[in-house]
Amino acid sequence: MTEFDLINKYISTQSLSRADVLEGIGDDCAILNIPETKSLAVSLDTLVEDVHFPANTTAYSIGYKSLAVNLSDLAATGAEPAWITLSLAMPEANEQWIKDFLRGVFDLADKYNVQLIGGDTTQGKLTISIQAHGFVDQPLLRSGAQTDDLIYVSGYLGDSVAGFEQFIPEDENNNVCITRFKRPEPRVELGLAITNIASSCIDISDGLVSDLGHVCKKSQKGAIIYLTDIPLSEEYCQYYKGRDYKKALSFGDDYELCFTVPKEKSHLLEALSTELGINLSCIGKITDSDSIQFVDAGGELVKLNKGYEHFNE
Ligand code: ADP
Ligand code: MG
Repeated sequence: MTEFDLINKYISTQSLSRADVLEGIGDDCAILNIPETKSLAVSLDTLVEDVHFPANTTAYSIGYKSLAVNLSDLAATGAEPAWITLSLAMPEANEQWIKDFLRGVFDLADKYNVQLIGGDTTQGKLTISIQAHGFVDQPLLRSGAQTDDLIYVSGYLGDSVAGFEQFIPEDENNNVCITRFKRPEPRVELGLAITNIASSCIDISDGLVSDLGHVCKKSQKGAIIYLTDIPLSEEYCQYYKGRDYKKALSFGDDYELCFTVPKEKSHLLEALSTELGINLSCIGKITDSDSIQFVDAGGELVKLNKGYEHFNE
């Protein structure tokens, strides 16, 4: 089957079609209408086999996760997702694989009203790049944190590393942690809801230590984090036999949001948590220093290693 057959047969089969897409897949360029009053937010992430997902991950889960990590960047910016382009390199044109992969992409895309508008298909090591486009009124940036702002995280940290360590290729009978590793849920609604509340935001892809570090650096601030307040799920604590928070703070892949909130707005978060059905935990605050301090249950300062960084030993 040729590249063109594949494109025609599967890539252009998404049932969702948005009114702002004047020309989608099939021409040299996609032609799009951007709302007059909004800004365009654009982000791209690449997933490589054996680096970002185990080689035996199912095609459906690879498709789902490839889109999820990109929607997560839009969420962290407070943008409403609209369109994606997809670059797909694969060793051979395996029809069943591409069908399942696209089902994973389209299931999540349809949920957030996102249309696949173009891309590129080549032969090579399995590598997926998705560029996500969204609309934003007031972007949430990493640079906006102010001294004394409270630091919040959504959901639970570390389920993903526990899922990675218990990984099974099959998608049946996966526990909570494995599912969170294979199919992280981008916090799109949360990102949109906090655009008028949060002063800064980032999604946790490389671990809290590393990602909060980016916020501090960009905002030229420091932070103090209380380890007893880090949200760890029952499943995580069961797997690691206690509150072993280190992996939860450094592995990443959780795609939860970490955001800062001025004290006078923090009362809004309880209702928001209830409304969205997402756990929101205050884990510390922004300081005037130039480092992140971690405080354990006994009040002692703890040193933690940074999260996952590419090209580092
Ligand atoms: P060109 O050679 O002009 O770049 P292609 O033959 O690569 O065009 O692609 C034809 C059409 O199919 C284009 O509209 C392109 O955006 C779309 N397309 C190709 N590969 C993909 C893909 N992996 N996902 C989505 N659209 C794709
Ligand atoms: Mg062309």
